[in-house]
Order: sequence, then structure tokens, then C-alpha cells
Amino acid sequence: MMLRFAVSVVCSMHLHSAIAHGEHKHHHDRPHHDRDDKSDGTSRRLENIFENNQNRKFTVGGVSYKSREDFFQSGGRCLTPRRTSEEEDEANNDFKAWKEAKETRKEGGIYADRVGGRRLVGCGDNDCVDWNKQVITVPVQFHVIHDGETGRQYTYESNRTYIERSIKALNFGFQGIDNTEFTPFPNRSYSRYNATEADSKIRFCLAGTTATNNSTWYYAGPLSADFTAMKEASHVGDAETLNVWATQLGGYWGHATLPPNDSARDGVAILNELMPGGPQTIYSEGDTLTHEVGHWLGLKHTHDDGCTGVGDYMIPKANEATSGWDCPVGKDDCSGDGGRNPIHNFMSFYQDNCVDQFTPGQNIRMQSSWEMYRHRSFYSEAFTLAADGFSCVYNPLPTSIPTTSKPTMKPTTSKPTMKPKRPR
Ligand SMILES: [Zn+2]
Repeated sequence: MMLRFAVSVVCSMHLHSAIAHGEHKHHHDRPHHDRDDKSDGTSRRLENIFENNQNRKFTVGGVSYKSREDFFQSGGRCLTPRRTSEEEDEANNDFKAWKEAKETRKEGGIYADRVGGRRLVGCGDNDCVDWNKQVITVPVQFHVIHDGETGRQYTYESNRTYIERSIKALNFGFQGIDNTEFTPFPNRSYSRYNATEADSKIRFCLAGTTATNNSTWYYAGPLSADFTAMKEASHVGDAETLNVWATQLGGYWGHATLPPNDSARDGVAILNELMPGGPQTIYSEGDTLTHEVGHWLGLKHTHDDGCTGVGDYMIPKANEATSGWDCPVGKDDCSGDGGRNPIHNFMSFYQDNCVDQFTPGQNIRMQSSWEMYRHRSFYSEAFTLAADGFSCVYNPLPTSIPTTSKPTMKPTTSKPTMKPKRPR
């Protein structure tokens, strides 16, 4: 049971840098959440443990906070932008059309008609994937930025395990099974989805790595021009390739681009010390990456629509009024929604050893995002996941299928000099 926090060394330069980029957090800009008053005895006991930690100083990403609550209230957890209401309508309409098309094709028996065991024919503009029969594998390009020795420990050449365990954490999460490298939070009492519904059928493999020594990029927050410059300079592949950047990120924890995004800014960024085995213990199990990749595949936060909406795709429904933290078992913000707060969901803000699942509804939503917005060049179809849970197996495609770039078979540590041609 890991309730204690390892407090990382505070480096005043980091703090200075976060302020210099104009992105230092605003404290108390929102009213504090009314803490659990509906919980049962078990959760109350757990709450008491958390209460004892309330006033403990919390240092993360080189920035110190009065407490963990203070950090979460600051909004530093995730800077992925929310869709505008127009974009939201568009995304929902796309999803509805996708579902209808899917059902029509199923009736037509096209699902049985495959090419080389890989592709489906007759699916029009969006190449279909038969999620009942196959998994897809997303090639990952992992970029570690460091400032001299600071942050260099996370590079592939310094210590392979941070990146390898990050990919493994993605694969545990998207398969809907516990990450066997870490101990789940005790006293979790909730039913799991069945293995089929829990599995998104989406896998990830490590196609390449880069390591870049650049102090400007290292400290850049997600809203800065330096952050964009970093992504554009190091991005590899097309919309089917997941680019990940691990940096100090201006003290923030994560950022992702929502689909569709065909630009060289596409991808996710995470605070390096949250990688599996990093110093933040209960937040260093790799789930921040899983959360951001959920956004990359179109998901919203569990609290985005408060108690009223179903727009957060939480099917079965389990709403929460606002974002929460720690692992408040039994917490129930919203009456009459048929479920307690989704404290085990990857798209919430709860701690890593508390979260371990996407809902079946979220999985379908991610599958639709893949087909509609990302599965374009079919570049990813050359990849499958190796038995080690993180390596890529590369199978060249038939020449009739367009490929836009050559994959890096072995991870490299050099800075990419040339970017592959983008698909049209
Ligand atoms: Zn988020």
C-alpha cells in the first residue's frame, strides 16, 4: 500500500522557468470541491487517511504546492483542450454516422470479406476494422527531451525501462487488464467489465525513440510556442503514428491533441517523472500517458459534462460533478445516475493505482476515432505487438497498399533529421 509520497528535489531553476513561460498555476481560482458526504464507512476511513495528507507539501514537475488538493485545484493535471460546442456536435454526428454505417455493413456480410487477413473491403473512405476479430497496433515514436543531465535518466539510452514500461502500461490499460508491475489500490470493490467489453482492441508498440538535449524545449509548457516548435521539429510519421514527448512540460502533467489532427503537432506530451518507476510513486505507473492517449483517440474527461451529460461516453453511465483526486472509494456526486463516481476510469484525475479501466462505451468511441480520423495511410497495418508487450513486429505490406514512411525497426536515439512524406 503506497500512500506516502516521495517528494522530489525542488530545483529553483525549474520553478523559475515555469513562471518565465507565463504558465505558472493560479491557485484558488475555483471553489474547492465539496468533499465526500455520501460515502460509506470504508470510504470514510480512506478519506481520513487522505485528510491526514491534506497539508503535506506536494512537489511535482519541479513546482511545489501546499497539498495535493492544491495541485489538482490548480488545473495542472491535464491541459488537453476541450472541444467547442460546434466541434462537439460534429464529433457526435460523425460517431452516429459511423455506427450506422458499421451496422449496415455488418448486415451486408462485408465483415467476412478480408484481404490477406488484414483489411476489409467495401468500407469506402474509412477503412473498416473488424473489431470483433482483430486488434490494431499503433506504432509509437517516443521522444525524450532533457536539459543536460536533468531529465536525461528517462532517455532510452540511459535507461530503457522507462519507455518500455510506458508502452507496456498502455497495453495493459487498453486491453482492460491490471498492470502486473504495480499493486492495485487496496479495498477496491467494484465489478469489472467482462474481458471482451473491457478490451479496446487497440495495442501500441515502440517503433522508435529520440533523445534531444534542448533546455528551451525541456521546460516548455503545452501552451507555449516553444512546445509547438519542439513537436514540429521532432514529429515522425502520420496520423496513425502516436508521437509521445516526455519533458518537464512547464510543471503540467499532460497534454494531447484531439482527432482529427494530421499536422506535425499531433501527439501527446507527459511530465517525465510520471513514467513508470518515476519518483511520484502512486502517480508514476504510466497512467497519465494512458489518459492522454485516450484524448488522442477522442475521449473527454469523466467530469467534463458534470452530472447531466452523457457526452463523456461513460457507458455504462457513471457521472461525477467535478474532477477528483486520490482514490475516494464509494464517492457518489450525482444522484440517480445509476453509479458512483468513476474513480477507476483512466479519463478521471484519480491516482494511478486507483484507475485501471476504460468503459465499453469509451472503447467503442476510441475505435470509431481510429477508423474515422486516423486510419488513413494504413501505415500501422505493418505492425503487430511482440510477446514482450512493447516491441514492434514489422511485417511489410503488399505494394498495393500505400505506405508513407519507413518505420524505424530498432529504436534509435538520434534526433530525426528528415520527416517522412505526409499522406494526403
Ligand atoms: Zn485529460
